[in-house]
Amino acid sequence: MANLLTQLPQRSIWHGWGDPEAKSVLPGYAWRALKLVRGVEPAAVNTPPVALDDVRLPEPAIDADAIEALRSAVGAEHVSTERLDRVEHAGGKSYPDLYRLRAGDGSHAPDAVVFPGTSDEVVAVLRACAANDVAVVPFGGGTSVVGGVDPVRGRFAAVISLDLRRLNRLLDLDETSMTAVLQPGMRGPEVEAALEPHGLTLGHFPQSFQQATVGGFLVTRSSGQASSGYGRFEENVVAVKLATPEGELSLGGRTPTSATAVGPKLIDVLIGSEGTLGVITEVTMQVHPAPTESEQATWAFPTFEQGLTAFRRLAQELGHGVMPDVSRLSDVEESLIVLAQASTGIPAMGYLGLRGMKHPCLGVFQWEDTDAADLAARRKRAERILKAEGGRKAPSSIAEHWMSHRFRGPYQRDHLMDRGIFVETLETATMWSNIPHLYAKVVEAIHASVGEKAVVQAHVSHLYDGGASLYFTFFSAAETDPLAQWSRVKCTVGDAIAAAGGTISHHHAVGTDHRPWAGEEIGDLGVRILRAVKNELDPSGILNPGKLLPDAGNTPDSAASPGPAERD
Ligand SMILES: Cc1cc2nc3c(=O)[nH]c(=O)nc-3n(C[C@H](O)[C@H](O)[C@H](O)COP(=O)(O)OP(=O)(O)OC[C@H]3O[C@@H](n4cnc5c(N)ncnc54)[C@H](O)[C@@H]3O)c2cc1C
Repeated sequence: MANLLTQLPQRSIWHGWGDPEAKSVLPGYAWRALKLVRGVEPAAVNTPPVALDDVRLPEPAIDADAIEALRSAVGAEHVSTERLDRVEHAGGKSYPDLYRLRAGDGSHAPDAVVFPGTSDEVVAVLRACAANDVAVVPFGGGTSVVGGVDPVRGRFAAVISLDLRRLNRLLDLDETSMTAVLQPGMRGPEVEAALEPHGLTLGHFPQSFQQATVGGFLVTRSSGQASSGYGRFEENVVAVKLATPEGELSLGGRTPTSATAVGPKLIDVLIGSEGTLGVITEVTMQVHPAPTESEQATWAFPTFEQGLTAFRRLAQELGHGVMPDVSRLSDVEESLIVLAQASTGIPAMGYLGLRGMKHPCLGVFQWEDTDAADLAARRKRAERILKAEGGRKAPSSIAEHWMSHRFRGPYQRDHLMDRGIFVETLETATMWSNIPHLYAKVVEAIHASVGEKAVVQAHVSHLYDGGASLYFTFFSAAETDPLAQWSRVKCTVGDAIAAAGGTISHHHAVGTDHRPWAGEEIGDLGVRILRAVKNELDPSGILNPGKLLPDAGNTPDSAASPGPAERD
């Protein structure tokens, strides 16, 4: 466990996920089952990524004056126009990002990649870019799945990717207040490794934990798998420093988060700003005692609806700090996969069948605590609710397997893409009363756009008093034009989410891909407020063109994502 949470993998491969040595493949029996049950077949021949040298890259469009200005801002060795650097920063980790690169399309690559080492250097880079007509795309771990790091040039002469990996230190720790000052380029395991010797944890474990960074978590309003315990990332933000072309903005830090009545909470404008308002250079976070105790449990419910009621009661009757830190309810389809992957899953299916659960929906839980008796008391309170709503205990090894393999999913996507499979995830959130409706409408829209021969699975996680998040994974055979397939599916399902009253994103953010729906969600006046803030902080509009705002005066150029951002 300690290794998983504190060990940094090698740098991410440019055409996929994480450590190139750590592959994860679907066993033969799983492929056979997919074909038999869902008609999903791999391509007749493998579709591996092209070699790095075969990626087609445009010549860098950046002129010599701009390069010189950047070199004097950060040092010549930290400005790169190398092939590997440009390809690695050509996009994030969405299906279209990876598909394009695997097929050798490097047309989205930035003209240069810049690696600043201090917050002063970040300000100097922004000023150099504003003076030289260069757009800037902040780049943390590059794990965006919504086109957030797409190097869109917009109306500018050139675009750079501003990689924050050198800003990766714990700057200060106040052990009395339990706050940590973190640089934005720290990845999940780097944060945990820095806090571990002090018996502390950030408690933020998204599936992208091994690659994603503190700055990225903050500006995308990320939510980790243990959010039902530690809260979303933003709930623990105490202070933020932002570098802008207009200078540095420093907010918060005098009081605990929210413990001030000095006007509107301005810091919230930076949280979720997706690199469009400035570059986060420092974040002060509330940290927590690292758990010394943990326990996993698996429960099965006869129907998804009964599981939903149980989960709602956990959130409403127990609340944060008492309900399980990880709480995840899978629908029938996802439960089958969770069961098939755990060694005790197949016998458990038989057992549950005997208990009358022919199509069980699994709940996976983890409690974390610093006191064994407290943990046991919390577990008992949760179990009373789970039982009262028709839940039955299943082997805890299923939940243990899920916990220990929870960061493996992204590797499996690479394997599926090698075999010519179209694979995508979508997430949303809504009020408890609307979850069944939203769930049904999204499943229907996925099937309508992907086809009946698709595996569509979902789970509920990230519990709140009023509602929860819904997360969908689906795959089917890729069509001859997988990018057109992706675009069609994204539009259909995005429209279905909006029509059924869900948010277009609970935690992946807006990027380029969700802009049309985000604009509708916050309304014209909301968009104007954001644009007014942007005009103050980034008057020339160099920061992350074509992201977040439906029309920020930074119309994406032809290199932009082929997704729904380009629809009417
Ligand atoms: C396999 C996989 C699993 C995922 N699981 C989860 C999950 O469980 N929960 C979740 O919330 N998300 C998840 N995501 C989405 C993604 O990991 C998050 O959005 C993450 O917060 C992005 O962090 P990053 O450092 O990689 O940011 P990047 O992808 O580098 O950037 C994301 C956005 O933030 C901006 N940005 C980055 N750093 C800064 C900075 N210092 N200042 C200003 N702007 C900046 C970028 O310009 C971009 O707009 C997942 C993604 C993948 C690929």
